[in-house]
Amino acid sequence: MSAETLIKSYKEFKQKYGKQYSTLFQKLVEEGQSPKTLFIACSDSRVVPSLITHTKPGDLFIDRNIGNFVPPFDEDSEASGTPAVIEYALSVLNVDNIILCGHTQCGACKSLYQDIPEDDIEMTHIRKWLKFGESAKEQAIALIGLKDKKNLYSATEKFNIIDQMKNLLTYPAVKRKVKEGKIFVQGWYYHLDSGELEYFDPIEHRFLHVEQYLKKEKATV
Ligand SMILES: [Zn+2]
Repeated sequence: MSAETLIKSYKEFKQKYGKQYSTLFQKLVEEGQSPKTLFIACSDSRVVPSLITHTKPGDLFIDRNIGNFVPPFDEDSEASGTPAVIEYALSVLNVDNIILCGHTQCGACKSLYQDIPEDDIEMTHIRKWLKFGESAKEQAIALIGLKDKKNLYSATEKFNIIDQMKNLLTYPAVKRKVKEGKIFVQGWYYHLDSGELEYFDPIEHRFLHVEQYLKKEKATV
């Protein structure tokens, strides 16, 4: 899509939704934002958090990065985009939920299996960033082997979600709030082709379809 097309689309948005959302936007400006959920997803253009959660402006505080990675807490780190989002969501916005959303056909997870030459300066930060997926790759290889690529990539995507959830717990505010029962952390696996959604069940230690989550919720009410 060209910039011109995007501007035309913006004008359509303004005409179509301007009135519909004006009260909400006004309220969000006057009262400030108070999203209840931090949503961490991949930058992939096919993963659209507000679309798949059917949420409105002001509902989700979103961090998107290549591979939906969460760098482990490191107070000396200079590259702190995602860590700053996590701290702001927890300590300023006081969110109640963190959703870590991975997805099928993730280019970042697939890239873990391709070598990026050390001297390729145009890929410097991608090479460094992908190290946060190394552990998922190692676990997937140990489980699947290298032959069955389809299952290998899928396992990598799932191990990656679990790993990044663990990394979230290295943040002091997350660790404290989990301990106090004040925050709920969940891992999602979104299927690009079908729109199906699985979640990581920590008791069964595997991914289950969301329908099962809703059934379990109902059973405990
Ligand atoms: Zn991705």
